[in-house]
Amino acid sequence: MAEIIDGKSIAEDVVAKVKQGAAALSQTGVVPGLAVVLVGEDPASQVYVASKSRRAKECGFHSVQHTLPVDTDEDTLVKLIEELNADKAIHGILVQLPLPAHIDAGRIIQTISPDKDVDGFHFINVGKLGTGELGTAFVPCTPAGAMLMLERVRGRDLSGLNAVVIGRSNIVGKPMANLLLAANATVTIAHSRTSDLPAIARTADILVAAVGRPEMVRGDWVKPGATVIDVGINRIPAPEKGEGKTRLVGDVAFAEASEKAGAITPVPGGVGPMTIAMLMANTLTSACRSAGIEPPVL
Ligand code: NAP
Repeated sequence: MAEIIDGKSIAEDVVAKVKQGAAALSQTGVVPGLAVVLVGEDPASQVYVASKSRRAKECGFHSVQHTLPVDTDEDTLVKLIEELNADKAIHGILVQLPLPAHIDAGRIIQTISPDKDVDGFHFINVGKLGTGELGTAFVPCTPAGAMLMLERVRGRDLSGLNAVVIGRSNIVGKPMANLLLAANATVTIAHSRTSDLPAIARTADILVAAVGRPEMVRGDWVKPGATVIDVGINRIPAPEKGEGKTRLVGDVAFAEASEKAGAITPVPGGVGPMTIAMLMANTLTSACRSAGIEPPVL
């Protein structure tokens, strides 16, 4: 059976290092500051924003939350971000997505100063990741977290290993592929137009699934001994738990895949907990950069 890569414990380890780093930085008079902006009352977004703000406080950060009504106009939101860009106490700005349909999310993301773009979605940070400028980039939190989990199993240098990433989204698949490439893996990106996906998946020493389709990756897609990183989070009906109940599953059929894989991330408790931990790490990194101090190694 595969080794289970425990996202909860790796995330706690990251948060512990961030707390230490924040405490050390605070001695120099710089307290990491994170601003989280929520527009509207989407219940899932409210939960995410509350847990980000809570984690930030736990890390000893200066944490501010701006909650704006759903009918906020785009220019008002741009003005708020410009104020946060200029605020010396704020090192990270996160605008919770999705935004209401009348707001151009692209314009909002590009308004965030690249130096405070702790989500790593600004073109400057996307470009830095794509060109291997990792020392000054902000990397999107979910792939950064997935990469750290992979590192714990395979180390930092993936020379000679084949990696297959299923999914090519801007927030997970593409940045993940760039990170794997930067770590010297030989990378294939698969997507909905890929033919014979099972055969391609079977070439992978490292298989990353970021698709959003429950348990699509079957056990016989997994090369024996492969490391499987399941980014998917899918809620499916669970009548066995009672009427109307649901449960979370990944993009990988965990029971089957764990019979073939060398190591695998579970869902829940895998990549999921890493995302907020990496947001804290990115915010600390931003504060360290502003103070001219080297951020801690995670
Ligand atoms: P997305 O934007 O919907 O992208 C899904 C990707 O999967 C697309 O590139 C799509 O291909 C590809 N795809 C869809 N059906 C496919 C198929 N049958 N065969 C092969 N490829 C297929 O999703 P995302 O935002 O990247 O998220 C992916 C998953 O990760 C979701 O389950 C999401 O909930 C989860 N997620 C988790 C976290 C976290 O752990 N914190 C964060 C973000 C996302 P095309 O490009 O050709 O359409």
